[in-house]
Amino acid sequence: MTEDLRPATVAVTAGRPPHEPDQPLNAPITMAATYVAGGDLEYGRYGNPTWTALEDVLGALEGGRCLTFASGLAAVATVLDLVAQGGIVVAPAHSYTGTLLQLADLEARGRIQARLVDITDTEAVAAACDDAALVWFESPTNPALELADIPAIAAAAHEAGAVVVVDNTFATPLLQRPLEMGADIVVHSATKYLAGHSDVQMGAIMTNDDQVYGVLKGRRDLLGAIPGTFEAWLTLRGVRTLHLRVERAQANAADLAERLAAHPAIGEVRYPGFGGIVSIVLAEGAMAADLLCRKTRLWIHATSLGGVESTLERRRRWKAEPATIPDGLVRLSVGIEDVEDLWRDLATALDDLVG
Ligand SMILES: *Cc1c(COP(=O)(O)O)cnc(C)c1O
Repeated sequence: MTEDLRPATVAVTAGRPPHEPDQPLNAPITMAATYVAGGDLEYGRYGNPTWTALEDVLGALEGGRCLTFASGLAAVATVLDLVAQGGIVVAPAHSYTGTLLQLADLEARGRIQARLVDITDTEAVAAACDDAALVWFESPTNPALELADIPAIAAAAHEAGAVVVVDNTFATPLLQRPLEMGADIVVHSATKYLAGHSDVQMGAIMTNDDQVYGVLKGRRDLLGAIPGTFEAWLTLRGVRTLHLRVERAQANAADLAERLAAHPAIGEVRYPGFGGIVSIVLAEGAMAADLLCRKTRLWIHATSLGGVESTLERRRRWKAEPATIPDGLVRLSVGIEDVEDLWRDLATALDDLVG
């Protein structure tokens, strides 16, 4: 049924109870640590009807089967755990810092070998796929907003026999569906756009490979990085408006990217042409960037992204952010407010910097 429907309709309609008299319209919050014996669920760590409702929607949106996790990094860790002892993992040098820290930690313990690449250099990435067990990428990358050629890299990785994983947190399944572009596994920090209100931590994995799904489900059962039931319900509620939020955030971001490029305080604007994240590099560097984050009044100085409210931060304030990310780079997570108010607030703060 969901195959014939457009994404906006899937976001609204999937994962609901059957249309029958006295059924609620929404999946209830099922608080249960155990179930009466003899069925499929048996115990709270193995499954929950509220997770299933959310997984039905997220899976339908990405075009695969979905498993949800306690956080994006729990999902990342579960996927990286697929790599056999000593296996090679190819990943972008500019990735989410938590992913980079996990790779470094696994490498330091001799679990894997990490090969960090410039994900925009398709030929170099293809060459790095040689003997790799897993090829990981983000596109757009966080926070440099570089784009990868997903189909070309997936083909090269498959030729080398590697599993292809895309972290699709920034694009969302509305703007990019990596499973259709050759990826084997998609990972999300559902904390960001999918939940969308900066009030839940949640992760998700999608795949079309039943064997991989079974292995990942087995790891979740055993390691226990399961989502909270209330968090799953909140994420499900958030997903119902995903298309509206992404549409507005993207329209605001495209508009702001253009206006920002003309401001004398800004050295560089990075906007990949889609999505709601814009990175700007302040002409005067880190101090100006820190000042900007303190001066805005609507824009909230905070880490994370993908919420309804606009936030900003200088990424290099985090020790784990690679030194190749400019010191004065501020990542803007554009929200769904009125763009004129967002611009006035930013412009006032920026004018102050050059005035
Ligand atoms: C935030 C983020 C993660 C980690 O997700 P958490 O929910 O914070 O654990 C992973 N990948 C990307 C691209 C992210 O932005």
